[in-house]
Amino acid sequence: MRKMLSSCLHSIASCCCKKWKPSEDEERSEKDGTVIKNLSASEEREPKYPSRPLPDPPAPVKPGGEVYVALYDYSARTEQDLSFNAGDHLEVVDKSPGEWWVARALTGVSASQQGYIPANYVAPVESLDAEPWYFSDTKRLDAEKMLLAKWNQSGAFLIRNSEGRKGELSLSVLDQGTVKHYKIPKLDNGHYYISKLKSFPTLKELVEYYSRQAEGLCVRLTEPCKKGQIMAPETYGLSYNTVDIWEIDRKSIQLSKKLGTGQFGEVYQGLWNGTTSVAVKTLKPGTMDTSDFLREAQLMKKLRHPKLIQLYAVCTTEEPIYIITELMKNGSLLDYLQKDKGTSLRISDQIEMSAQVASGMAYLESQNYIHRDLAARNVLVGENNICKVADFGLARVFMKENEYEDEDCVYEPKEGTKFPVKWTAPEAINGNRYTIKSDVWSFGILLYEIMTFGQMPYPGMSNIQAVQWLSKGHRMACPPKCPKVLHDIMLKCWKENESDRPTFETLQWQLEDFFDLDTTAYDDSSQY
Ligand code: ATP
Repeated sequence: MRKMLSSCLHSIASCCCKKWKPSEDEERSEKDGTVIKNLSASEEREPKYPSRPLPDPPAPVKPGGEVYVALYDYSARTEQDLSFNAGDHLEVVDKSPGEWWVARALTGVSASQQGYIPANYVAPVESLDAEPWYFSDTKRLDAEKMLLAKWNQSGAFLIRNSEGRKGELSLSVLDQGTVKHYKIPKLDNGHYYISKLKSFPTLKELVEYYSRQAEGLCVRLTEPCKKGQIMAPETYGLSYNTVDIWEIDRKSIQLSKKLGTGQFGEVYQGLWNGTTSVAVKTLKPGTMDTSDFLREAQLMKKLRHPKLIQLYAVCTTEEPIYIITELMKNGSLLDYLQKDKGTSLRISDQIEMSAQVASGMAYLESQNYIHRDLAARNVLVGENNICKVADFGLARVFMKENEYEDEDCVYEPKEGTKFPVKWTAPEAINGNRYTIKSDVWSFGILLYEIMTFGQMPYPGMSNIQAVQWLSKGHRMACPPKCPKVLHDIMLKCWKENESDRPTFETLQWQLEDFFDLDTTAYDDSSQY
């Protein structure tokens, strides 16, 4: 034990003396030790980017090509994209470019023009995906938020896949400012029903029926929930021609507002090609080896998930290096929590945000990728409390590999970089052993940050004190107003033995299931 402690102290002392310096956040929070309490309240511009010609010769419009319907509005980002609005019909003539298809608009602002469209913005006509009321994998809480948006009226509705019951569907309806949920089970003959008294061969017929009369529902179905801009998914890359060629001309980026400063450089809001808002991380010269970064960025770019910040493009031919990513309106989760202090965020929001991070991390876990610096400062927040994990993999480039140990797991911070001691698992501090399980430890700390509205972990303790305290088997207590079940999850993440810690997949479903246990139950369809 003494040996362990001394090696731990040796390791932490060397981190602290040589490499680690407290961040501004840490200094600030340790000074005031704040514990936040109140949980109760709940262009049109000329495109500058060089465009790649359409497939040569331009793909001819094949008569009878597949017809798709636009699910979201899309505004052309290059001269060769098509603009369209949700509901427009497009004939897809070439799917070979991959995530960007060549299509001819049949209706709408680009009618009869041909160009590239993001494949994830359309669905085949007549398919369930094309129905304006079908919101496939929307979660119950998201459904509530969308329906409660000011542009929806009573009777607005959507049908989604049920979270808890695989293969089943649920109807969510707005009724006088509250959202009700109904199961839509299937009979053995495949017919759908809400009340067993009346079943329908298709969902469309069910919707049409309940649009004519409420018949036991809280309210008659009126209009499908409006999706709004918020719902539109990220496109794959900035455009069809940055998917493969993602070293882009820095002249195509116009920097505007500064969004923040990290230890490796500044982050700006930017406009790509005069059309598309992006975030641009500018790296201080000498921060990293460009070839190391490019190697890592190749991997990072392949990681695509709705809860991960998408890396769009890079400018690495001269300094400062630019890393171009999707823009998140509300900045870092840490700032977001600290600003809110519980005035508008409710416990359900906190849990939902945690579940989103777990979902992004579960994806990284499935890809055998390690984050290495998971913390609220590295999660970004968009509209509607949407959280996405950022900076995955960057720690690996900012840290240098320890040549003496297992190559895949072992990193130590570069001279002069900050080391996030209070977020780092003991085996990573003591043995430089970074794995997905050390990310799970950090996730426990992130949960603590979320539940305390951004309080510094181990309040009142220095880094060394925290490490010593942990090595004696202590763990942080349940934060004020934090449900015990959530603290239990934190404690599991902080198990000494890595293999006793949960997977991110488990963490994700535990956090998602929390709603099913804790918030209003589904209305029981059997009553109708
Ligand atoms: P560190 O460099 O220690 O990891 P950090 O993660 O806060 O700290 P950066 O990633 O450089 O540093 O980000 C600095 C700030 O810029 C963030 O706190 C956030 O407010 C803002 N920011 C970063 N990326 C984005 C983005 N994609 N969209 C919106 N704001 C961003």
